[in-house]
Amino acid sequence: MPTQFLAQPIDYLRGVGEQRATILKKDAGIFTYGDLLYYFPYKYIDKSVIHTIVSLTPDMPYVQLRGKITSVQVLGTARAQRMVATFADASGVIELTWFQSINYLKQSINVGNEYIAFGKITDYKGKYSIVHPEMELYTPAITLQQIPLYPAYNTTEKMKNRGLDSKAISKLMLALVTLIKQQQIIFPETLSPAILEQYRLMSATDAIIQLHFPSTNATIINAQNRIKFEELFFLQLKLIKLKKLNQQNIRGHVFSIVGAYFNEFYKQIPFTLTGAQKRVLKEIRNDVGTGKHMNRLIQGDVGSGKTIVALMSMLLAIDNTYQACLMAPTEILATQHYHGITELLKGLPVTVKLLTGSTKAKERRFIHAQLLSGELNILIGTHALIEDVVQFKNLGIAIIDEQHRFGVEQRFKLWKKNSVAPPHVIVMTATPIPRTLAMTLYGDLDISTIDELPAGRKPIKTIHYTENKRLMAYGLMREQIALGRQVYVVYPLIDESETLDFQNLMQGFDNIVSYFPEPQYRVSVVHGQMSAVNKEASMQQFVKGNTHIMIATTVIEVGVNVPNASVMVIESAERFGLSQLHQLRGRVGRGADQSYCTLITGFKLSADSKMRMSTMCETNDGFKISEVDLKLRGAGDIHGTQQSGIMNFKLADLAKDQQILIAARNTAIDIMNDDPNLNLPQHAGMKAELHKIETGKTNWSRIS
Ligand code: ADP
Ligand code: MG
Repeated sequence: MPTQFLAQPIDYLRGVGEQRATILKKDAGIFTYGDLLYYFPYKYIDKSVIHTIVSLTPDMPYVQLRGKITSVQVLGTARAQRMVATFADASGVIELTWFQSINYLKQSINVGNEYIAFGKITDYKGKYSIVHPEMELYTPAITLQQIPLYPAYNTTEKMKNRGLDSKAISKLMLALVTLIKQQQIIFPETLSPAILEQYRLMSATDAIIQLHFPSTNATIINAQNRIKFEELFFLQLKLIKLKKLNQQNIRGHVFSIVGAYFNEFYKQIPFTLTGAQKRVLKEIRNDVGTGKHMNRLIQGDVGSGKTIVALMSMLLAIDNTYQACLMAPTEILATQHYHGITELLKGLPVTVKLLTGSTKAKERRFIHAQLLSGELNILIGTHALIEDVVQFKNLGIAIIDEQHRFGVEQRFKLWKKNSVAPPHVIVMTATPIPRTLAMTLYGDLDISTIDELPAGRKPIKTIHYTENKRLMAYGLMREQIALGRQVYVVYPLIDESETLDFQNLMQGFDNIVSYFPEPQYRVSVVHGQMSAVNKEASMQQFVKGNTHIMIATTVIEVGVNVPNASVMVIESAERFGLSQLHQLRGRVGRGADQSYCTLITGFKLSADSKMRMSTMCETNDGFKISEVDLKLRGAGDIHGTQQSGIMNFKLADLAKDQQILIAARNTAIDIMNDDPNLNLPQHAGMKAELHKIETGKTNWSRIS
């Protein structure tokens, strides 16, 4: 039985033994034969070429040389010992250095012998050497072409100390694959013959063997694609199944009436909705009008007007005698929504309340009572909203703003706020997220996109200054304030040191106050160490236009809306990620006049930082920015991906494998439509694999 074979403890494999097994389990998560086989190389080194010493350049990754050892010396004493050898081929001489295993090497490396040396070039003050090269005695019979593509495996320091370097892992793999061939083990195939055929994918067995013992570069790609497809396919299958189950099993509250609340509000909106806003509203109405349970993501760029769409969905709920709530990630943002929505609803008989961590006990009790009696129509708040004590009479819709700050569990907590059936849910993103990420992070939701900005917005002009040109940024600030506009100056938040943040901010404050000494320049400060009350008071001074300059850490990052602000100065901009920069920039450009964003950085910028600055200067399109962000950072560092569990891919990469993802998703949709319970015989392997994933038994060691 293949499964039994794969579940064998790694201790049983020849060459492992007890101590190595312990390290393999602890450092690499390898408990079984199956785990080892799924420990894929992170790259392949081409060993089909032998370089000459004269042709070496420091940017070569790994090189292979053939030459003779001309001298060996052991230098230093005791712990600081190192062994240095000179190695020469016909073209030149290079130094080889070892810091470890010197006693062993002294015996095995001999002057006059010819070796194949393999390693990475180090460039020390223009002098090249190879540290810790792998040495193999050269014999004419050596058949390099046997493994021209040499797999490289990740190993930890502890693994190396037990002799488990990349080469050793390769040896274990050889022992295992030899067993597989001897016993003619065939891996359980998880994909159906039709899928393998359609996408010309390798069988599971071939793919795994090719990944460890590749024949050519092309087969590596094919083998990788097979595994990537599998990883992405099963995640999609799981998400689509979840979505289907929700749709089948959950009755949605029906909002059949488009009544006075909705219509009166529609009449009093001070602008016309964009085509995209109208389309998304229609999508929402199609869901909530039919008895379907809505679970929808609204994606839209900063300033695209997501709030009003959310508000109109809430009014639809109220028209149908339901209540609504809106949850935001920070107190500032919740408060902002509360003020904004109250303002928009002026003149309409809708009751709105705010509930946050700093709501007083008395007010809280009042809110709880009003919620239960049904007097309160809309509750806005932070996660204080999902506490158990908060109970609604009849919650019909829940809106979650800036979802990436919230976990999936919180979405489910909101579901439970209506005991008859879960409320409809709308999730709004802060900034657009790349298509591949949306499909994976929100693959169980329907997605609506607001891909149009309100008319008349001028694109924000973005300029990058190095620190020495800060005065130019100040000049722009002065100019704009003279025109009656307001300015943000934002400092990065350093997680490790709140004190340091504070110092930076205060120094910036001093700078600005000394550059703008005249009494007519008034400054607000908001930072993380202030109490909620003081933060809010300071924000309000700025919102009301009583202050001209807002100096802040990133607490203002999300959602804050002051249309009169026209300049965003971002200090130490290189310390921000792209989506954060875009989000910050989105705080300006909300009125009809020209707005500016200045990015101030140090002189020395990494290639990534340069890319981020130039992307910001080149485009205002949040969708484009999110794609660049994903490429630069990889999916693992993007908000929300960590807790979602999607980062357990061994090979798939959401930044690079968009096409495979789309194919995998479409295939999963087709299969869930044709055979939702995977009962067809050709789907047996698929069913077993999905079950394994759903029950968390993806680790071979836990399969019995
Ligand atoms: P975001 O999508 O970033 O949350 P908001 O919903 O805060 O954007 O909207 C940004 C600003 O644009 C608000 O002041 C809002 O009133 C305004 N707005 C929304 N829709 C329109 C529209 N169709 N035309 C003009 N202004 C609009
Ligand atoms: Mg918003």
